[in-house]
Amino acid sequence: MTTPVKPNVKSKSKKQVTAKKAAANSLPQDLDASLAKRMQRHVSHGLGRDKHSKQELFQALALSIKEEMLARWRATRQLDSQFECKQVAYLSLEFLMGRAMGNAIMNLDLLPETKALMQDYAVELEELEEVEHDAGLGNGGLGRLAACFLDSCASLDLSVTGYGIRYEYGMFAQKLVDGFQVERPDRWLREGNPWEVRVSEHNVTVPFFGHTSSYVDPNGRRNVVWLDTQDVLAVAYDMPVPGYKNDRINTLRLWKSEATDDFDLEEFNQGDYTEAVARKNLAEQITMVLYPNDASENGKELRLRQQYFLSSASLQDLLNNWVRKHGNDFSQFAKYNVMQLNDTHPSIAIPELMRLLVDEHFLEWDDAWQVVSQTMAYTNHTLLPEALERWPVRMLGHMLPRILEIIFEINARYLELVAHQWPGDEQKLAAMSIIEEGQEQHVRMAYLAIVASFSVNGVAGLHSKLLTSGLFKDFYQLWPEKFNNKTNGVTPRRWLAHCNPELAALLTKRLGADWVSDLSHLNALNAFTDDKAFLRDWQQVKLNNKAVLKQLIKAECDVDFDVNMLFDVQVKRIHEYKRQLLNILHIIHLYHQIQQGNTSNMVPRCILIGGKAAPGYAMAKLIIKLASNVAHMVNSDAEVAKYLRVAFLPNYNVSAMERICPATDVSEQISTAGKEASGTGNMKFMMNGAVTIGTLDGANVEMLEEVGEDNFFLFGLTAEQVMEQRLNYQPQQFINASPALTEVLSLIESGHFSLLEPGIFAPLLTAITSPDDPWMTAADFESYRLAQERVAKAYKDPITWTQMSIRNTAASGRFSSDVTIAQYRDEIWRA
Ligand SMILES: *Cc1c(COP(=O)(O)O)cnc(C)c1O
Repeated sequence: MTTPVKPNVKSKSKKQVTAKKAAANSLPQDLDASLAKRMQRHVSHGLGRDKHSKQELFQALALSIKEEMLARWRATRQLDSQFECKQVAYLSLEFLMGRAMGNAIMNLDLLPETKALMQDYAVELEELEEVEHDAGLGNGGLGRLAACFLDSCASLDLSVTGYGIRYEYGMFAQKLVDGFQVERPDRWLREGNPWEVRVSEHNVTVPFFGHTSSYVDPNGRRNVVWLDTQDVLAVAYDMPVPGYKNDRINTLRLWKSEATDDFDLEEFNQGDYTEAVARKNLAEQITMVLYPNDASENGKELRLRQQYFLSSASLQDLLNNWVRKHGNDFSQFAKYNVMQLNDTHPSIAIPELMRLLVDEHFLEWDDAWQVVSQTMAYTNHTLLPEALERWPVRMLGHMLPRILEIIFEINARYLELVAHQWPGDEQKLAAMSIIEEGQEQHVRMAYLAIVASFSVNGVAGLHSKLLTSGLFKDFYQLWPEKFNNKTNGVTPRRWLAHCNPELAALLTKRLGADWVSDLSHLNALNAFTDDKAFLRDWQQVKLNNKAVLKQLIKAECDVDFDVNMLFDVQVKRIHEYKRQLLNILHIIHLYHQIQQGNTSNMVPRCILIGGKAAPGYAMAKLIIKLASNVAHMVNSDAEVAKYLRVAFLPNYNVSAMERICPATDVSEQISTAGKEASGTGNMKFMMNGAVTIGTLDGANVEMLEEVGEDNFFLFGLTAEQVMEQRLNYQPQQFINASPALTEVLSLIESGHFSLLEPGIFAPLLTAITSPDDPWMTAADFESYRLAQERVAKAYKDPITWTQMSIRNTAASGRFSSDVTIAQYRDEIWRA
């Protein structure tokens, strides 16, 4: 697609389009040029044509904006090294950044200028923003949290560096074929990444395989060396992270694996040049692809390689920085450095830091352990047993022999402490050991992380409580002072100011503009809930946003949503614990009621479901298929369409959520209580004025606390009740007691939604009716159905509904990631 470029009419600008000038302007030193000048230079650096595709214009604008950041980026680095403030390294296998351009323009305060400039190119800024490919370097909540945190750290003027992996292929793109999920590779770098800067001066090498050997040096110190390793080069690609209107540009440093140049000389000399070169390509595989599992580990060897590669490269980078300034004196290192581990994924950094300090910088074990145990902080993200990482000892011993030795040494010393605390208690020793015995020995990474960290946090009040009373109870007894809670948050820049400009303008009109960097200001909205004009404006904004989403649904799903109907949305990764199935059962119930003519109390609804299933997760994929088939049946009945429309939106990602959450009336947060650690989607919806229907799970508990029971549709068992019920769960009793659920299940069983695919949904029915169903869908169905009736009733009164909506936005201030990061800063990082 090409867009004609209107010739620049300003004569001043015209003069600049000489080859000589353009060449002079191409120098990167051109730091104080205007945005217009930069843009013109990048555009004319194209093929010299006077027509430019949106892709070309996007690239030119992105490069121009990056240039705007370069001087401030350098200044930030100089400032941080000059003032020796505490440096935080946020280590994460995932950063789900989404698009960068709109966010950068907002944070750099370039919006009016950029919009005006785009007129010269006869293109809308929004059209160019749409061209940018999402940086999908994460699965879901955990990766998006890392991205929100980076924005808040920069905006709070903290010196925080994100360390991650530059996956060649990000999160797969999801398509639906006959209602089944099909995965397509995500080559997000195909057109190049205009934001990144490759910085080879930070290259480090990461060792794999080989074996260890020890010797006693002339001073009598026993040194261990790791020999005959296969080394992989780690190359740094830096992405700028601009703070909100504060001139700080932090760094997200993403590592790419490459082959080193040292070839196997023997192979070389034998004339196997091509073979030797080809073999080197194996190194590049490490950072080739993101593992698409959310909340489950897959235990693959390549995944462990990724984890060690990220951990080692990042730590070497930090130590190189330190040694450059302080030499080999690490006595003050912990005072100026802290590493936050985003789940156990990068927890191999713990033995790696021991190795670097002891083997390469020659610290004594105890001194090195002091450094490690004062710099490492661990965030736990889940209680689900299938997500707890355990690496086979055999695999570790083969791939990282020196690291395994260090883990055993850490464990031996730590178990002495356990034995001291619980004398003679062998069971306790086995239960708490970092090494799990059994047919095959495993390393329990969460235990390793707890033992080595000075801080262990959960991500919502309930989750943190369940950690200390359940999963990590023994450790809590041993070290109560390590444990703390940091309830998640989301950045109000992307998730309100940028994604919902009309609501943002309305807020600014009433509250002034300060809410963007201090979201507690939203509280003042409660004063306007009886202001008729304000209510009308609020409704109009929601209506406009629904019209935008309606277009997306039409284009992507070919389903007609009606903006006058209630928009009921559940978008998140597809997982049994998140209970998309409960939602679908309720949809079938509504469908059945409509067909029976029981529509008197019904409120017309459009229901949207979206999310990706892990490619190997059969049940999750079957849930997508059921949602698709039910949507198809519902939408193809003209009578039903008066009351109900259902769509499954393929390829849910950050950019889709930016369209979805501003347009949502009802946010579905219906996980089995005790299973969702926090949730962050719930917060994005709340900020944008959606009312939640939800269980007492994760951060829902705190959202309810803030907004009050009158503005939240609560249902379902509590976490405690779930645990109690599990001991003797009889789903058939709940089915028998609910005519609605009985009908719904028999409708599925009759093949109504699988006429050409007989029996396809049997595994779902088996799961719901099994006493072993950990998600207890049947137990919560009636309570959910009744809560949905309350939703319908409330929606019928537009004034009451709009007041509820306003109160939700007003109460969302506490869920700004600025609040969360201020707590990390004060209570963990002490930065
Ligand atoms: C916020 C977000 C999530 C997390 O959603 P939950 O409902 O908390 O699971 C996942 N994916 C994307 C793209 C998001 O923006």
